[in-house]
Amino acid sequence: MTTAATTTAVPFRFFDARVTGTRSLGRSMVRITFGGPELTEFATGGRDQRFKLFLPQPGQDAPVVPVEAGEEWFSVWRAMDPETRGVMRTYTVRDQRRADDGSVELDVDFALHGADSAAASGPAARWAARAEPGDRAVLLGPIAPDNAGVDFRPPAGTDWVLVTGDETALPAVSGILRWLPAGTPARVWIEVPHAEDIQRLDTEADAEIVWLVRDGGDGRPRTGLIPDAVRAASLPEGTAYAWIAGEAGTVRTLRRHLVGERGFDREAVMFTGYWRRGATEEQLIEEAVTNPAPSED
Ligand SMILES: Cc1cc2nc3c(=O)[nH]c(=O)nc-3n(C[C@H](O)[C@H](O)[C@H](O)COP(=O)(O)OP(=O)(O)OC[C@H]3O[C@@H](n4cnc5c(N)ncnc54)[C@H](O)[C@@H]3O)c2cc1C
Repeated sequence: MTTAATTTAVPFRFFDARVTGTRSLGRSMVRITFGGPELTEFATGGRDQRFKLFLPQPGQDAPVVPVEAGEEWFSVWRAMDPETRGVMRTYTVRDQRRADDGSVELDVDFALHGADSAAASGPAARWAARAEPGDRAVLLGPIAPDNAGVDFRPPAGTDWVLVTGDETALPAVSGILRWLPAGTPARVWIEVPHAEDIQRLDTEADAEIVWLVRDGGDGRPRTGLIPDAVRAASLPEGTAYAWIAGEAGTVRTLRRHLVGERGFDREAVMFTGYWRRGATEEQLIEEAVTNPAPSED
């Protein structure tokens, strides 16, 4: 497989958007479609394209974001009153398309993770569970498809890819599978809460996709499914590239297994904690700012 391994840090910009539609996906996710005239300039790179989503605080009609701050937006946002500034979360572009009338729509799939209970959930999941057409949000996203918000970049010489993720990473896994060149050998493990959350995924890759369901039927969700499944798997020969995302602890366990026990080149393992049990995204951001790049070994 031959692909460019470069990352281009092009500028991102803020996009005003409105919800144009919502649709339940299985039991645990909801697809929110965003539209708005500004989105014609939103340029996804596909694969695991991430962006920042800003949501209104309770009582606000639209999120408050530092649109004028340019490249300083993050420090300006961080210095704002947490009760007033837009709630910032990270999401993935599930799909972007041009409608018949020339307008652009973006689909984002939200894991609801207990959005019906204030104790177990967060503002983004709760917002998504209640979103209606017309609701306002702001996206901080790319204006060129080759941008630093895409991490899936197998280097030239990759023979096969290993991809794992939970429901938060399912939109990215879907984008990766759609993007992989025809015939690329791919071993894929996806963990979802319920059997009803299993989706049809389009790909031309030679992909073996294993769905793992946490709901064992006894009311107690099973854990560690992906690490156990990968440990038990016999993997193809050749030069591998791995992309692993989902709960931070699980991601760390998997990375250690691949690098430490399977002999993967650490540079060829792209790993991202999409969330961490017991921590909100604000807490993770503060941790990253005050203690950048902690060792993952
Ligand atoms: C690059 C990237 C791309 C992402 N793409 C997506 C995406 O496309 N779709 C998506 O749904 N998520 C995605 N996520 C994950 C999402 O940003 C987090 O789940 C986020 O914490 C949700 O915000 P919240 O306000 O609902 O919860 P928070 O306020 O951040 O957290 C509240 C509580 O909920 C817990 N929690 C957070 N997420 C989960 C979960 N999935 N399951 C169980 N408990 C959870 C936290 O540990 C915390 O205890 C992505 C994350 C990253 C880094």
